[in-house]
Amino acid sequence: MRVKILLQITTDDGEPAGAEEIASFGKSVKQAEDLGLSLAESKMLLAAAQQRIVEAQTKNWIEAQRCCEVCSRRRRSKGSYPIIFHTLFGDVKLASPRFHRCACREGNGRATVSPLTELLPHHVAPERLYLETRWASLVPYAAAAELLGDVLPVETGVNATTLRQHVLRVAERAEAELPKDRCTFMDGSPADWQTLPVPDGRIIVGLDGGYVRDWTERKNNFEVIVGRSMPEDGAPRYLGFVHGFDQKPKRRLVDMLESQGMQANQDITFLTDGGEEVRALTERISPCSEHVLDWFHITMRITVLGQFAKGVAQCDEEAGARLTKELERIKWKLWHGNTIAAQDVIEDFEDELSELDVDYPNLRKFIVAAREFAVYIASNTASLINYGERYRSGERISSAFVEATVNAVVSKRFAKKQQMQ
Ligand SMILES: [Zn+2]
Repeated sequence: MRVKILLQITTDDGEPAGAEEIASFGKSVKQAEDLGLSLAESKMLLAAAQQRIVEAQTKNWIEAQRCCEVCSRRRRSKGSYPIIFHTLFGDVKLASPRFHRCACREGNGRATVSPLTELLPHHVAPERLYLETRWASLVPYAAAAELLGDVLPVETGVNATTLRQHVLRVAERAEAELPKDRCTFMDGSPADWQTLPVPDGRIIVGLDGGYVRDWTERKNNFEVIVGRSMPEDGAPRYLGFVHGFDQKPKRRLVDMLESQGMQANQDITFLTDGGEEVRALTERISPCSEHVLDWFHITMRITVLGQFAKGVAQCDEEAGARLTKELERIKWKLWHGNTIAAQDVIEDFEDELSELDVDYPNLRKFIVAAREFAVYIASNTASLINYGERYRSGERISSAFVEATVNAVVSKRFAKKQQMQ
């Protein structure tokens, strides 16, 4: 059998128009793949429909622009030139007409106007930019271009270079739309904040850093800070920027939080590894926010110390067991928010370590790691909470979800096969 697909476009007043054939396929069934539209047919169909629809729309639109906006006289035509409008459903060929400037406005700027050029300054449909940007954020440019070409009628003009240009253009626009950074985002006074409606539940924000290799200077790395913000009721969002390069890091964070409904009396918990840069980022954003050292990073450090203790046990079983036990006590005290007690035990632990007389080759490293841990806890005491209590009440105490983000955003793109540095 034969399938003909007709397109009918009617005017707003319902004036009937003739149907135009846009595609015709012979469809006989021999095998499963003969059923329905093939990929090639679907592309052909989409492209044909898109061409006719955009043509009809722009024709109407140009007609509406034809008359002078001051005196309403029809402007004289000065021919047209061809343009290509790149959409997700094909490259649409259009004639962009030029009109003479109306006599009533003579001597006022250029002699001709091209209304279509004003409508489509970049010749690329916003949805195409959207999908290109989205896919290019997941896979390398060349792969994204290929994938688009696989499923959509966009063969011409889609390659790694154009895709990259489009993505950068979108990024620049998004960047321009983001207002300037400020050092504080706490506006108003406590009295104002009290008059605000009761905010939705707490927003948990995890922030962490990862390293990405420089594309040109292969030996250099730069730090990328990524985050994930999770409102109690609402969809989570990701955040990412290059540390030290980004001019508006705090604004970026606030912008994300505001898009999730943040208001001045909002409870926010920032979970970080306690690094200076990320911690500075969380300051002066909201009067009801708190900074919490995340449990994941604390346990990671204790686990490393535990490995050393196991090493000591190889040389001196009793001493190794004692140190392991001490570490468990430290962890227990920190878990329950007994910060002072935890610091006492850490001090004992360091004393014991310094008096240790074993033949453990990594003893020096062990001592250094223990010292670093003591400093880490001491410099973050204000950010330590009763983790056990929070955990039992069902709240998040770990930014392990951010670690997963670092992996998803950074490591995945770092992989050799991806080549997305
Ligand atoms: Zn006029």
